[in-house]
Amino acid sequence: MARKALITGLTGQDGAYLSQLLLKEGYEVHGVVRRSSHAGVDDHRLRWLGVEGVTIHDGNLIDVSGLIRIVREVAPDEVYNLGAQSFVKTSWQQPILTTDVTAKGVTNILEAVRLEAPEARFYQASSSEMYGKIQEPMQSETTPFYPRSPYAVAKLFGHWLTVNYRESFGMHASSGILFNHESPLRGLEFVTRKVTDAAARIKLGQATELRMGNLDATRDWGHARDYVRAMWLMLQQDQADDYVVATGRTVSVRDLCRVAFEIVGLDYEQYVKTDEAFMRPAEVEVLLGDASKAKAKLGWEAETSFEQLIQEMVEADLDRRKLAA
Ligand code: NDP
Ligand code: GDP
Repeated sequence: MARKALITGLTGQDGAYLSQLLLKEGYEVHGVVRRSSHAGVDDHRLRWLGVEGVTIHDGNLIDVSGLIRIVREVAPDEVYNLGAQSFVKTSWQQPILTTDVTAKGVTNILEAVRLEAPEARFYQASSSEMYGKIQEPMQSETTPFYPRSPYAVAKLFGHWLTVNYRESFGMHASSGILFNHESPLRGLEFVTRKVTDAAARIKLGQATELRMGNLDATRDWGHARDYVRAMWLMLQQDQADDYVVATGRTVSVRDLCRVAFEIVGLDYEQYVKTDEAFMRPAEVEVLLGDASKAKAKLGWEAETSFEQLIQEMVEADLDRRKLAA
C-alpha cells in the first residue's frame, strides 16, 4: 500500500516541490489548504510544476478541531508542517497573526498528530532566521539562537515545541533548520524573486527601476528543489533529529542584483535604487549555514549553485513577463 503524506502549506513554494518529490516516490499525497473567497484552490505553483493527483483538505493551522478531523481521516505516515505566515517583514505588521499561525499553529498540528496519528513521522519547517543576530560565523545545530523578528521568534517556538514533543511523547518529530531557499515559485515579495522579476521586466521595457532595501545583507541561498529532498530524508531516518540545511556560501543582496541583471545583459547600478520603505526595524545582516551533519547523516548536499538558481529564476520570469505582455 502507498505511504500517505499530509502537507500543510501545500500551495506554497516548498509544498509544491515536496508534493512533486513525494508523488515520484510513490506516496499518496494530501494537503491542507485554507479557504479563501475565490472559487477553487490557488494551485498555480502545483500547476506550474505539473503536479497532479494531490487530495486537498479544507483546513487552517489556527483551527485545531479541523486539523484533528483531517489527520483522523487521512491517517498519514508522514506529516510535513510547511504552513506559515512566512514573510519576515509582514511579521512586524501582523505580529499576532504570525504568532497564531507560525507559532501556535505548530502546537495545533502537533496535538492533532499526537492524538490521532502518534506513530506518524513529523517534519517542522524551522528557519535560519532563528539565528538572527548570529552568535557564530557559521551556524550549525549547536549555535545559540537570537531571533530578530516576530517571525523568527514564532519559528523558535515551533522549533522547541517539536523538540519537546519528541522528548516528551517519543514522537518521531524532526526539525529542519533550513537556510533561505528559492526557485521560480518563490513569492514575489522575497528578495530573490523581486530582483529576478524586476530584471526581466526592465529588460523587456516593462519597468525602469527597482527599489530595494538593505543591499549589504547576505544570505546562504539554495534551491527549494534540493531542500525538500532533505526534509524527506529526515523522515526516512530511524531516529528523529534536527538538521541544518544550507549551501555553505553566503552572497550579498548587492551581488544578487549584479548576477541577475548580468544575465539579461544590464548593469544593476543603473536601475537599483535604495528606498527606506524596504528597510526593516531589525535586520539579520548575515547568514551562513554549516550543513555537515546533514551531509554525514542524510547523505544530503545542495546540488544547485547560486548562479544556476538565479539563471533559472530569471529565465522563468522572462518567459512569464513575455506571456503577460
Ligand atoms: P510560502 O510562503 O511559499 O508558503 C506558505 C504556505 O503556508 C502557503 O501554502 C500558505 O497558504 C500556507 N498558510 C499560510 N497561512 C496558513 C494558515 N493559517 N493555515 C494553513 N496554511 C497556511 O513558504 P515556503 O514554501 O517558502 O516555506 C515553507 C515553510 O518553510 C514555511 O513555514 C516557511 O516559514 C519555512 N521556511 C522557508 C524558508 C525559505 O527560504 N523558503 C527558509 C526556512 C523556513 P496560501 O497559499 O493560502 O497563502
Ligand atoms: P528573509 O531572509 O526571510 O527575510 O528573506 P527575504 O528574501 O525577504 O530577505 C532577505 C534579505 O534581503 C533581508 O536581509 C532583507 O532586508 C534584504 N532585502 C533588501 N532589500 C529587500 C527588498 O526589497 N525586499 C526583501 N524582501 N528583502 C530585501
